[in-house]
Amino acid sequence: MPKPNPRHPNYPIPSGDVLRARGWRQEGLLRLLENVLSVGEDPDNLIVYAALGKAARNWAAHRAIVKALTEMDEDQTLIIQSGKPVGLLKTHAKAPLVIMANCNIVGQWAKAEVFYELQRKGLICWGGLTAGAWQYIGSQGVIQGTYEIFMRIAEKRFGGSLAGRFILTAGLGGMGGAQPLAGRMAGAAILCVDIDPARAAARKAVGYLEHVAPDLDTALSVIDEAVKEKRATSIGLVGNAAEIYPEIARRGIVPDIVTDQTSAHDLVYGYVPKGMSLDQVKGLRDDGQGQLMAASRASIVEHVSAMLEFQRQGAEVFDNGNLIRTQAREGGVANAFDIPIFTEAYLRPLFARAIGPFRWMALSGAESDIARIDDLVLEMFPDNGIVTNWIRLARDNVPFEGLPARIAWLGHGERTALALAVNRLVAAGELKGPVAFSRDHLDAGAMAHPNIMTERMKDGSDAIADWPLLDAMLLSSSMADLVVIHSGGGGYAGYMTSCGVTLVADGTADGAERLEHALTNDTSLGVIRYADAGYDESLDEIAKKGIGYVTVG
Ligand code: NAD
Repeated sequence: MPKPNPRHPNYPIPSGDVLRARGWRQEGLLRLLENVLSVGEDPDNLIVYAALGKAARNWAAHRAIVKALTEMDEDQTLIIQSGKPVGLLKTHAKAPLVIMANCNIVGQWAKAEVFYELQRKGLICWGGLTAGAWQYIGSQGVIQGTYEIFMRIAEKRFGGSLAGRFILTAGLGGMGGAQPLAGRMAGAAILCVDIDPARAAARKAVGYLEHVAPDLDTALSVIDEAVKEKRATSIGLVGNAAEIYPEIARRGIVPDIVTDQTSAHDLVYGYVPKGMSLDQVKGLRDDGQGQLMAASRASIVEHVSAMLEFQRQGAEVFDNGNLIRTQAREGGVANAFDIPIFTEAYLRPLFARAIGPFRWMALSGAESDIARIDDLVLEMFPDNGIVTNWIRLARDNVPFEGLPARIAWLGHGERTALALAVNRLVAAGELKGPVAFSRDHLDAGAMAHPNIMTERMKDGSDAIADWPLLDAMLLSSSMADLVVIHSGGGGYAGYMTSCGVTLVADGTADGAERLEHALTNDTSLGVIRYADAGYDESLDEIAKKGIGYVTVG
């Protein structure tokens, strides 16, 4: 029986042991599709997160996907083109059940205007990273990444602790909603600005945000008090970041850390220009796209100029992967890239060892399955400080949304070992049901994004998109259950290419074979990608773990 979903009552959370499909692999993917809508931002419009990131092209396509997943056999492969199923073909039982390509536009045509036109004609849709791939697990999906960024900054700038430190950020949407909880878990006092009161209310209802302030004065005094008492807290403020950031700067207040996670990548459906209400913006989306793009860009110029001012005054300022610097530079802020990207500034040594955001979802819907896997992770990796610290923190602080799930930054060998151990627990009947594994597209071998993941690569290979394409082919050859290639990013065109993968640990020997090959090869390619770019950590990982890297010359 599905579980009730207080946030979206029409989209219950899948659970239980009754299968509607012909096997757990198909049923697992069906539950993940249902789950992305149950934790999504606007499920009635199939929108999951990142402004327009959709689970399927339209409702007819969604119904056809559900039908195919329910009726297909294990030796068939469902083919999905930008959220629409286009083929169900005979392959074999070790082939992927689902392959997808979402929002890929040929280079010369990869422009925001072309995307919006293709979307209007119903020919394409943006899948975000994890929306179209049915891998989204709510704000918890990026929470460890956000927490680790804050902790790296704590180590770099503040003696290892954020107690008594003020973080200013904006965006309380699907992904940005992780910020208040991550900031609080890191010990800081965090202020999160969002223009939409409903988003702030949603994050508060789910326990990610503690308070919503009635005005800026109150918000700043709550922060001030918490900073003086070195007390962790999170407070939301309804307002436009393009007004609030400059106002805070004007008052001479300099936060310790400043970032932003509004949907700045999308100037029409995402970012809200200052001086406009949400209804005014909605009214312009069809007929006033040019006006809206210009207004959003002008506001982003003010927003980023304030961020640069905070940086000049000593704050640690970073871009959190929403292309705000890129939009500002296009709007004339020549030095927008003085603000570093989080990947390069804080996380690259982890990615060079293919350590990245790995996730698992209890397909049974039972929270006890995640608790058992938490224990397993602590038993298996006692010397991995990042992971043990995270699991202990997460089990005490991170509320579940949708299917119970966990994320942890694990690397080569660790992911495979954990998935195989979980598969054995499923086989032994120690869990209530199978467990699905996936990872973020923001992973070592899986993403080419010159303004986020691959910015300032050591060898200058930032814009080369061969790696995610190779990853997808490798994963299809390695028996993964679902493999996807996404493109898009800023205005959904031309900014990035990425690859996603999902596997179902169904407790069978075949399941173990799939998990072992796919997960091992995925992280192998990740380490190889960074070794090829000249990172010493990757060469060390290859030597230690015997990864099949081929050197030339
Ligand atoms: P979302 O569309 O669900 O939420 C965006 C939020 O920004 C909304 O709540 C909206 O009301 C708010 N907003 C828009 N304009 C504003 C303004 N001017 N002032 C204040 N608030 C404003 O998007 P999301 O899923 O939260 O993603 C946010 C951004 O982060 C996207 O650009 C996305 O691509 C990016 N992202 C980065 C990572 C990463 O790895 N760091 C991961 C996922 C998403």
